[in-house]
Amino acid sequence: MEATHTQYLKAMGIQVWVQRAEETTQITVPDIPESIPSQPINIQPEETPINWDTLQQKVATCTACALHSSRTQTVFGIGNQQADLMLIGEAPGADEDAQGEPFVGRAGKLLTAMLYAIDIKRESVYIANVIKCRPPENRNPNTQEMTCCNAFLKQQIALIDPKLIIAVGRIAAHHLLAIETAIGKIRGQCFKYNNIPLIPIYHPAYLLRRPSEKRHAWKDLQFIRQTLTEL
Ligand code: SF4
Repeated sequence: MEATHTQYLKAMGIQVWVQRAEETTQITVPDIPESIPSQPINIQPEETPINWDTLQQKVATCTACALHSSRTQTVFGIGNQQADLMLIGEAPGADEDAQGEPFVGRAGKLLTAMLYAIDIKRESVYIANVIKCRPPENRNPNTQEMTCCNAFLKQQIALIDPKLIIAVGRIAAHHLLAIETAIGKIRGQCFKYNNIPLIPIYHPAYLLRRPSEKRHAWKDLQFIRQTLTEL
């Protein structure tokens, strides 16, 4: 197990080190900001509880924004519906649009390795995106599209009721926290989304482009592991 764990860390490009017994690291948990105001919604009233099957059906047939016309299929989300940990990215890319599952391309494989590096199996968490249809040519989703799709995400969060949310990347973090602070300044800190602790991290696609940032990502992963243990 330890050897496999080390292999995953190496796959992430993370230097493995062993802390000496006499050294202790003080990890400071940042102040938790006030609860973030909800985004406006314009599809389903999220106050109305619905079950997974109904929600999945509504997403699969949704034509509420223009993205429905260019998708191969909707990408609903996947994983443990009773998960303590929920990861939320921004939008499906080409691989996700083709397979109908979030985070399955190169970035997805790295995300899976990152989770494994802190002893979390992909199948034990729930993974979703802010929006469920692929923006053409992998452009960023715009505010209107994210607002339009927000009710579905809110329903997913309500059904899972996670102990901790990880916002994967700048766009998901900005959407969920309703802020525009650079991801480099908010990554690895604990905020709150409707009273649920939320930690933003770098998107694995960014880490593939900037491998030198993986050392920061590793710190953030350790903080996530510690926070989960304490919740
Ligand atoms: Fe509907 Fe969301 Fe797809 Fe737009 S992105 S069509 S709101 S499911």
